[in-house]
Amino acid sequence: MWRHLAETGQTLGEGLLALVYPAICWSCGTGLPPHARLFCASCRARLTDDPHPTCPRCSSSVGPFSKLEGGCPACRHERFHFEGVQRLGPYEGLLRESILRLKQPSGESLAEALGRLWAEAALPRLQTLGAELVVPIPLHWRRRWQRGFNQSEVLAAALARGLRLPCRPGCLQRVRPTPFQSRQSAAGRRENLQDCFRARSPSALQGRSVLLVDDVLTSGATASEAARILRAAGALRVVVAVLAHGHA
Ligand SMILES: [Zn+2]
Ligand SMILES: [Zn+2]
Repeated sequence: MWRHLAETGQTLGEGLLALVYPAICWSCGTGLPPHARLFCASCRARLTDDPHPTCPRCSSSVGPFSKLEGGCPACRHERFHFEGVQRLGPYEGLLRESILRLKQPSGESLAEALGRLWAEAALPRLQTLGAELVVPIPLHWRRRWQRGFNQSEVLAAALARGLRLPCRPGCLQRVRPTPFQSRQSAAGRRENLQDCFRARSPSALQGRSVLLVDDVLTSGATASEAARILRAAGALRVVVAVLAHGHA
């Protein structure tokens, strides 16, 4: 009886999922064969196959024979408050297009689909990071209100589900909006970020390894400042996962 009910529940659940997620690829819109999930095989490969080796410290693309002790040429002279960065891929091609789309006000479902794909494709690698809880880079409330959601929070929730870890968006708050940073110098960027985050619920962070999640990492300055605040609030270590790494 119970088993029967559970099975009915499962079928109902899948039926609802099919309603919420139509059987077309989230990226190119072609019809999906039965049992294929979210993306067609071609888009899935274009989104998840990273064409380059990466620096474990900052996730920049590096050459196949690069020496990476102490970081790659792009990050060796930077001081980061996080331990390392993993990316799904470079900020190019279909991944870049998808990230631009998911930042639109209608992008929440795409963010959810990409988050699931990311969790599926990168799970073993993400598990090696040894995180105990997942925290997204927050948006300032005004920007969140304009967009209707925080894309990093949607991505972080999907990774946390895949990793079976708690997702704690409340642990970090953005108390000051930061203007777009791409045209500033490194020093200007750092100054700009000062006092921009505040940690909350320090007991949840105490002695824990935190996986910090964002959509894109460029200089690493934002993630490093967030990691600094989390560690000052008691986190043992911070590792970072981003959908894409792009050069500023
Ligand atoms: Zn497709
Ligand atoms: Zn590097």
